Amino acid sequence: MDQLKVDEVDVYRQLARHLDNLPAGFPATESGVELRILRKLFTPEEATVALALRMVPEPAEKIAKRLQTEVAAVAARLSEMSRKGLIFRARKGDMALYMASQFVVGIWEYHVNDLNPELIEDVNEYLPFLLQTTWAGMQTKQLRVIPVAESVSPEASIMPYEVAEEIIKSQSKIVVAPCICRKEQQLVGQGCDNPMEACFSFGAAAFYYEENGLGRAVSPEEALELLHKGLAAGLVLQPSNSQKPINICMCCGCCCQVLKNIKKMPRPATMIDANYFAEVDAEQCIACGDCAVRCHMEAITVGETATVDLERCIGCGVCVPVCNYAALHLRRKEPASQSVPPATMVQTYMQMAQERGKI
Ligand code: SF4
Ligand code: SF4
Ligand code: SF4
Repeated sequence: MDQLKVDEVDVYRQLARHLDNLPAGFPATESGVELRILRKLFTPEEATVALALRMVPEPAEKIAKRLQTEVAAVAARLSEMSRKGLIFRARKGDMALYMASQFVVGIWEYHVNDLNPELIEDVNEYLPFLLQTTWAGMQTKQLRVIPVAESVSPEASIMPYEVAEEIIKSQSKIVVAPCICRKEQQLVGQGCDNPMEACFSFGAAAFYYEENGLGRAVSPEEALELLHKGLAAGLVLQPSNSQKPINICMCCGCCCQVLKNIKKMPRPATMIDANYFAEVDAEQCIACGDCAVRCHMEAITVGETATVDLERCIGCGVCVPVCNYAALHLRRKEPASQSVPPATMVQTYMQMAQERGKI
């Protein structure tokens, strides 16, 4: 690998631009915090190798050819980098394939076992900017919110890809990992008591998580138990935004980097792909306020009855089960306001990249 000439100052800028060209983006700040993050995660040599990767799984031979260096050394470096959570690794039979990883969801989440206060501080400075600069402007979001199925009113239709239980039952490989958002907040003294095992990965992502020691494999039955524990705690379900999601996160408004940041905005509902909204039956409501306490988006105010601010409601449905008076339910949005997720995450990423003018 010493054949690679590394300009240590410039390589991190190049890597930042490279990551920004991926669908979810990695925009440049005036402060340069994103470069500080990259310096903490990548050595200059690793940054050089990461620059040669695309968001397509490829064998080490092909990447070595692009880098114009010897295969064995590149293969060893790729293997080590994928173990460190800097790039993604998939397997085809016995062959390892490597591809670029986005910063979020990706490199950051792969560091769940490798956090320190300085890195957490930089990432917490950077993520609100990333969210406002890329996520906010994209029509196709990387994650969507699906409802608590039992909260949906009986007359409303619900698609299988909107039912967490159905998504989980359809998987042949499931790994559950600790929630990095809760873990990093805990490490800086601001954590919450919500369940820590909250991030499910499926398929190739699950194998990667398991091999890298980021989570543990669970049966569909155990995954359903963990799901119901998360729902009992009032967590919001955020799968990746496709009809075949590769993960489901169970999130809280205090720690989740997406929810806690969109909550600060005036219209969180416009920042999320969701097909439902909460509706109060004023005849039944006794204004107890339990639903307002549960809502992670501060979407409910209680006067003579509860009322829902539709510009804040993300249709998660976690408020519904706490109403003991059957005064709350989720309704499906009008067809024009609904979003059908892309069939696969490859299509989701293609749409995101197109919307950002990257392809
Ligand atoms: S997105 Fe949600 S479940 Fe995933 S790590 Fe963040 S808070 Fe935890
Ligand atoms: S009111 Fe709050 S808890 Fe209820 S569905 Fe809307 S965002 Fe979720
Ligand atoms: S929990 Fe039910 S009864 Fe209580 S304020 Fe909310 S909608 Fe009304």
